[in-house]
Amino acid sequence: MHKDVETLLEAQGLEQRLKELDAEINSLPRRIALLEAPLAAHQAEIDRAAAATAMAQAERRKIESQIQDLKARVAKSRNHSAEVKTNQEYKAVLDEITYSEGEISRCEERILQLMEEIEGHEAAAREVEAKRAHIQAEVDAAKAEIRTRTDADLAEKQRLQDQLSELRRGINPNTLRRYDRVARLRGQAVAVLDHYACGACRVRLRPQFLQEITSRPEEVFFCETCGRLLYVAVVTSEAANVTTAPVA
Ligand SMILES: [Zn+2]
Repeated sequence: MHKDVETLLEAQGLEQRLKELDAEINSLPRRIALLEAPLAAHQAEIDRAAAATAMAQAERRKIESQIQDLKARVAKSRNHSAEVKTNQEYKAVLDEITYSEGEISRCEERILQLMEEIEGHEAAAREVEAKRAHIQAEVDAAKAEIRTRTDADLAEKQRLQDQLSELRRGINPNTLRRYDRVARLRGQAVAVLDHYACGACRVRLRPQFLQEITSRPEEVFFCETCGRLLYVAVVTSEAANVTTAPVA
């Protein structure tokens, strides 16, 4: 096999690995996004519970202040009852007191209800918060793992790129230009000769061309159909007809 083809075959392997690394590096943020997806819904639920708690607490404070007012009214009515002159006035004062005391016990019942509601909201919030924290811990662990993975991928990428540059420096510039053009167009630019045909595009080679390839290993040949660099996989002393190599 021609030295340049051998080198480009190696370069092609490195380029393939670089593509895989890029694909992996690009896929990692998506994995984090998928893990993080339920966090927003949980946070919204926690926020809703906190808002409901705050509303119940505000109502409780309002009712407590109403109770204070009602108690003050009852005390005032009791003082007033000592000064009334007629039975009718006295009855009116007592009715007032009865009404206020009824209101106070209604308010106190509502406070008990609100306390239960608040406890419910707080318990719900705690439960969701525990779920959220669990997911957050998983996300943090995945992020750390992904950071390590990405660092390793980037380091490998750098190493392969250096290796690739080194390989490319040794190749004939014309061959390299053709290789790059075909690689851009078709992905892989080196193909094995497979049963008298190009191993990539599968088009059968002209007999004369086939003869040239197999008899002149010192030259570089390009498939006349797809433009890929062709190589004979197994070279023995009777190289001429060895064309049963596996596809690259
Ligand atoms: Zn071809």
